Amino acid sequence: MAKAKGDIVIDIERCKGCELCIEACPQDALEVSRQVNKKGYLYIVKVEDTCTGCESCALVCPEGGVTVYRVQNKKKTQVAQVKNITSDINITVKE
Ligand code: SF4
Ligand code: SF4
Repeated sequence: MAKAKGDIVIDIERCKGCELCIEACPQDALEVSRQVNKKGYLYIVKVEDTCTGCESCALVCPEGGVTVYRVQNKKKTQVAQVKNITSDINITVKE
Protein backbone atom coordinates (compact mmCIF):
# COMPACT_ATOMS: atom_id res chain seq x y z
CA MET A 1 0.00 0.00 0.00
CA ALA A 2 1.27 3.47 -0.83
CA LYS A 3 2.46 5.59 2.05
CA ALA A 4 -0.06 8.17 3.22
CA LYS A 5 0.55 11.62 1.88
CA GLY A 6 -0.17 14.66 3.96
CA ASP A 7 0.41 18.35 4.16
CA ILE A 8 0.25 20.98 6.86
CA VAL A 9 -0.34 24.69 7.11
CA ILE A 10 1.26 26.55 10.00
CA ASP A 11 -0.29 29.80 11.18
CA ILE A 12 3.04 31.56 11.62
CA GLU A 13 1.54 34.45 13.58
CA ARG A 14 0.26 32.02 16.25
CA CYS A 15 3.55 30.11 16.44
CA LYS A 16 5.70 30.76 19.51
CA GLY A 17 8.64 28.66 18.32
CA CYS A 18 8.40 26.12 21.15
CA GLU A 19 9.56 23.36 18.75
CA LEU A 20 7.17 20.76 20.19
CA CYS A 21 5.94 20.04 16.68
CA ILE A 22 9.49 19.41 15.48
CA GLU A 23 10.02 16.89 18.29
CA ALA A 24 6.69 15.22 17.53
CA CYS A 25 7.17 14.81 13.79
CA PRO A 26 8.26 11.26 12.92
CA GLN A 27 9.11 12.33 9.38
CA ASP A 28 11.55 15.15 10.29
CA ALA A 29 9.52 17.43 8.06
CA LEU A 30 9.70 20.56 10.22
CA GLU A 31 12.38 23.06 11.15
CA VAL A 32 12.75 26.45 12.77
CA SER A 33 12.84 29.21 10.18
CA ARG A 34 15.38 32.02 10.23
CA GLN A 35 12.69 34.66 10.29
CA VAL A 36 10.53 35.95 13.10
CA ASN A 37 6.80 36.60 13.13
CA LYS A 38 5.17 39.85 14.29
CA LYS A 39 5.56 38.80 17.92
CA GLY A 40 9.27 38.22 17.46
CA TYR A 41 9.23 34.41 17.58
CA LEU A 42 11.20 32.24 15.18
CA TYR A 43 8.38 30.32 13.58
CA ILE A 44 8.28 26.79 12.14
CA VAL A 45 8.34 25.84 8.49
CA LYS A 46 7.90 22.58 6.61
CA VAL A 47 11.22 21.70 5.00
CA GLU A 48 10.68 18.18 3.71
CA ASP A 49 7.91 16.79 1.54
CA THR A 50 7.67 13.69 3.73
CA CYS A 51 4.50 14.56 5.67
CA THR A 52 2.08 11.65 6.08
CA GLY A 53 -0.69 13.69 7.73
CA CYS A 54 -0.23 11.81 11.01
CA GLU A 55 -1.55 14.83 12.98
CA SER A 56 1.12 14.64 15.71
CA CYS A 57 2.29 18.20 15.18
CA ALA A 58 -1.24 19.60 15.41
CA LEU A 59 -1.99 17.62 18.56
CA VAL A 60 1.07 18.88 20.47
CA CYS A 61 0.91 22.51 19.35
CA PRO A 62 -0.14 24.57 22.39
CA GLU A 63 -1.15 27.48 20.18
CA GLY A 64 -3.42 25.57 17.82
CA GLY A 65 -1.30 26.81 14.98
CA VAL A 66 -1.15 23.73 12.75
CA THR A 67 -3.80 22.45 10.35
CA VAL A 68 -3.23 19.00 8.84
CA TYR A 69 -4.45 17.75 5.51
CA ARG A 70 -4.41 14.32 3.90
CA VAL A 71 -3.91 14.21 0.18
CA GLN A 72 -5.99 11.64 -1.70
CA ASN A 73 -6.14 11.61 -5.46
CA LYS A 74 -4.40 14.99 -5.36
CA LYS A 75 -7.34 16.39 -3.37
CA LYS A 76 -6.57 17.77 0.09
CA THR A 77 -8.92 16.93 2.97
CA GLN A 78 -8.55 18.60 6.35
CA VAL A 79 -8.11 15.96 9.05
CA ALA A 80 -7.07 17.87 12.16
CA GLN A 81 -7.00 21.29 13.64
CA VAL A 82 -6.56 21.91 17.35
CA LYS A 83 -7.82 25.30 18.45
CA ASN A 84 -6.94 27.43 21.48
CA ILE A 85 -5.66 24.65 23.71
CA THR A 86 -5.43 26.92 26.77
CA SER A 87 -9.20 27.02 27.15
CA ASP A 88 -10.77 24.64 24.68
CA ILE A 89 -9.80 21.69 22.51
CA ASN A 90 -11.61 21.25 19.25
CA ILE A 91 -10.38 18.44 17.05
CA THR A 92 -11.91 17.92 13.65
CA VAL A 93 -11.19 14.55 12.07
CA LYS A 94 -12.54 13.72 8.63
CA GLU A 95 -11.70 10.70 6.51
S1 SF4 B 1 1.29 15.69 10.15
FE1 SF4 B 1 2.82 14.23 11.02
S2 SF4 B 1 4.29 13.89 9.36
FE2 SF4 B 1 3.13 15.74 8.83
S3 SF4 B 1 4.39 17.45 9.61
FE3 SF4 B 1 2.89 16.93 11.20
S4 SF4 B 1 3.93 15.45 12.57
FE4 SF4 B 1 5.11 15.57 10.62
S1 SF4 C 1 4.15 23.44 18.38
FE1 SF4 C 1 2.97 25.18 17.54
S2 SF4 C 1 3.74 26.97 18.69
FE2 SF4 C 1 5.22 25.32 18.98
S3 SF4 C 1 6.74 25.64 17.35
FE3 SF4 C 1 5.22 24.18 16.53
S4 SF4 C 1 3.70 25.44 15.43
FE4 SF4 C 1 4.91 26.81 16.76
